[in-house]
Parts: sequence; C-alpha cells; structure tokens
Amino acid sequence: MSQPDLFPAALPPAPDRKAGLSRLKAFTPAMGRAYASERNFDLGPQDRSNISCLSAHVRHRLVQEAELAQAALSAHGLQAAEKFIQEVCWRTYWKGWLELRSAVWADYKAEREQAFTAVSEDQALAQRYEAAIEGRTGLEGFDAWATELMQTGYLHNHARMWFASIWIFTLDLPWVLGADHFLRHLIDGDAASNTLSWRWVGGLQTVGKTYLARASNIEKYTKGRFAPDPASLAPEAPALPSVHPIPSPGAILPGERPDPSLPSALWLHDEDLHAESWGVEDVDIRCVIYPSSPASRGEAGLGAVARRFSKAALEDGAQRAAGRFGVKAVAADSVADQIEAARSSNVRQLITQRPCQGGVRDERLKAQERIEASGLRVVSLTRDWDQAFHPFATKGFFKFKTAIPDVFTRLGLN
Ligand SMILES: Cc1cc2nc3c(=O)[nH]c(=O)nc-3n(C[C@H](O)[C@H](O)[C@H](O)COP(=O)(O)OP(=O)(O)OC[C@H]3O[C@@H](n4cnc5c(N)ncnc54)[C@H](O)[C@@H]3O)c2cc1C
Repeated sequence: MSQPDLFPAALPPAPDRKAGLSRLKAFTPAMGRAYASERNFDLGPQDRSNISCLSAHVRHRLVQEAELAQAALSAHGLQAAEKFIQEVCWRTYWKGWLELRSAVWADYKAEREQAFTAVSEDQALAQRYEAAIEGRTGLEGFDAWATELMQTGYLHNHARMWFASIWIFTLDLPWVLGADHFLRHLIDGDAASNTLSWRWVGGLQTVGKTYLARASNIEKYTKGRFAPDPASLAPEAPALPSVHPIPSPGAILPGERPDPSLPSALWLHDEDLHAESWGVEDVDIRCVIYPSSPASRGEAGLGAVARRFSKAALEDGAQRAAGRFGVKAVAADSVADQIEAARSSNVRQLITQRPCQGGVRDERLKAQERIEASGLRVVSLTRDWDQAFHPFATKGFFKFKTAIPDVFTRLGLN
C-alpha cells in the first residue's frame, strides 16, 4: 500500500470510542482493493498501515460492526470493499456459530480445565508450556510473537495463524492451552473468534481442514523479518482427534424490550460499551451501573495489557452513557454492590445487552439470577446486527456470506 504515513506507529488505538472513530476515519481510504491485496502481510508492530487494528474496539463495541461496514460501503462500494466487509462478518459468523452451539463453549472450558490439571501433574509438559508462552522455544518468529502478544496485547491475523499452528503441530501442546493464553492476553480476546479460530487451525472446526505454518509463507508475509529454518517446523498438520461431535445448531434467543414506565439503570459489561445506540431513549434512565474491572476470560487471570484496555474501555463507555442520559455512572464490582447501586437510585429495571456465548455471559447469568431474586427486573437487549446475522451461521462461512447484501439492506446499510 502506498499510504504508510496515514497512520501513527502507536496502534492499536487508545481504548476509547473517540480514538476508535478517529482510526476508523483514517483507515477508511484503505478498506477497498488495497486491503484485499495487502492485509495478509504482517509488517510488524511498527507498521499496521494495511489493517485497521480496530478489533479490540469492535470486541468492546466501542465501535460497531455496522459503523465499519458503513464506512467501507460509502467509500468503496460493496464490490471493492468486499474483502474488508467479509472479515468484519467473519467475527459475526463465529459469534453466531457459537451462539447456535453453546455446547462447544462448555466443552472448551472442560477441556481447558483438564489441560491445566495435566500441566500441574506433568513437569515436562509444564516446562514446554512455559517456554512457549514466555517465548523461549528457540523458534524464529514464534518467540517474537509470544513476546509481542505480552507487550502489546495484539498480533496480526497471520501471526495468530502461524502461532496457533506451530503451537499445535510443531510444539505438540494442547490447543486449549494456546487458546486460553490468547483469550487472556489479546486486547480483542473474544470467546467465539478465538476458540473457533484455534479449532479451525487444529482441524476440529472444518472437517478435513487444518492450517500448516510453512517457513516460506512466514518469510514472504513478514517481508523477510522472520525466516525460520523449514526443518524446525512440523512438515504436516494432521487433524486433531475430535473429542465431541459438532452439535446441530440450536436457536437464537430474541431480544427483550424494556418497560418504559419503570425507573431504570443501564447495566454495562465489557462487551458492549456504546449504550448511546441501545435504542432506550424512551426509558426513564436513572443511572449507569458498570463493573470497574472486566469479566474473567479464564481461570489463570486476565493479562495486564488486556486488563488495562478493558478497564479503560469500561470507564469510557460508562462516562459517555452517563453524559448522554444526564445521570451518574456508578462503578460497582460485586453483585451486592450493583443491587445496592440500583436501590439507591430507586431503580426497578436493569437494562443490558445480552452478551454472546463466552465468559462475560457466564458471569452475567449468575449475577442476573441474584439480581432478579432481589426483586429487580433485568431486560436483555440484542443488537439488530446480531439478530439479523446470527441465524445464518448454521453452516459454513461460504453460505453465511451470501446473506450479507440482503442483511445490509434490512439493516439500512448502503
Ligand atoms: C488463532 C486465532 C485467534 C484469534 N482470536 C481472535 C480474538 O480473540 N478476537 C478477535 O477479534 N479476533 C481474533 N482472531 C481474528 C483476527 O486475527 C483478528 O480479528 C484481526 O487480526 C484483528 O486485526 P484488525 O482489527 O486489524 O483486523 P482487520 O483486518 O482490519 O479486520 C477488520 C475487523 O474484522 C474482524 N476480523 C478480521 N479478521 C477476522 C477473523 N479472521 N476472524 C474474526 N474476525 C475478524 C475484526 O473485528 C477486525 O477488527 C483470531 C484469529 C486467529 C487465527
């Protein structure tokens, strides 16, 4: 691409909506054919000019998928921006796919627990695992990506694919440990995109398909920054044995509607931090309640960089929402404190966005049970984007993507 000076070196952008929108604006000229031809190059942390670096903002919904899609459509049209729009929709597809098959998330968590038990009982495995996450394997490329992940909370998509493939097929480590490491350290760590991408690399997601990291491919797409010895990498990628069959798709839960006559609070979580677009202008909003710390993404704790990002994003989301509705934002971490915050503002209804399958939903369901038992009503909204797209995630992405033009029309994107 011929516009490297469009972007500052310090990417991803700061963890707030303003920085996300400013990056969106700066990257829009690059969302067309240039993106399609350049996006696969991992030019390194100092040059992210060929990709948006907006995944963490989208993950926290500081910026919406629809905003990315609309920017791409307006600047380039559906045909020239097809690749960028499809990548945005990959996230939606993964989320819809997992939403329709909740057992896959439950199986991942059970397998992850078993793998950590194995690490605690097997010293050799523990040493190999620690060497991998600390970037001490001696493998060119891999060790640098392990360090980059810890320092920045971000990796280029191609580096994620190489890393996962080397983890599984060269280092012969359990895939769930790698997925757990990514989920806890990526600032965009997302249960669906991450778990299902790891499953795809290992051959569990698409029957008969695995992803093999090749030395020549790494050298080409890092423009020679890394040139691993071909003999140091696994020569083949046999699919991992499937422990559980892929379940048939279930149903998507419909969004609920708030009762506009009830005094209400906006109850935020770290996966949807743009309450200004929740469509609750007709409701009597009395306060914004938010956790000051993000939800857990695994037993071993959230990485420092990812935690910092999510914490700042929560603060930004809460303050913007409070400003928009002219109310106060109350940070409350425990469920008891959240109930107390609602009570002290005479609130009778908590309005939230239903989180998709993953750790945030796991925590929320437990909290919701206690909140409802205390006599407060909880209403879970669903975004039009998710409601329109998720039902199409019944089969592969190829079928899913054919629905994009019609869904865009229904959503008013053009
Ligand atoms: C093993 C592995 C783990 C991953 N884990 C995550 C994760 O936890 N969270 C996450 O958001 N993405 C994950 N991805 C997908 C992808 O790597 C990132 O979304 C992408 O690198 C983000 O960079 P960007 O914002 O510059 O993307 P761009 O190329 O600018 O794409 C625009 C947007 O589209 C979405 N997107 C792009 N590529 C993909 C993809 N392959 N799958 C899903 N969504 C995509 C992102 O929201 C992104 O911000 C993973 C991929 C792999 C191979």
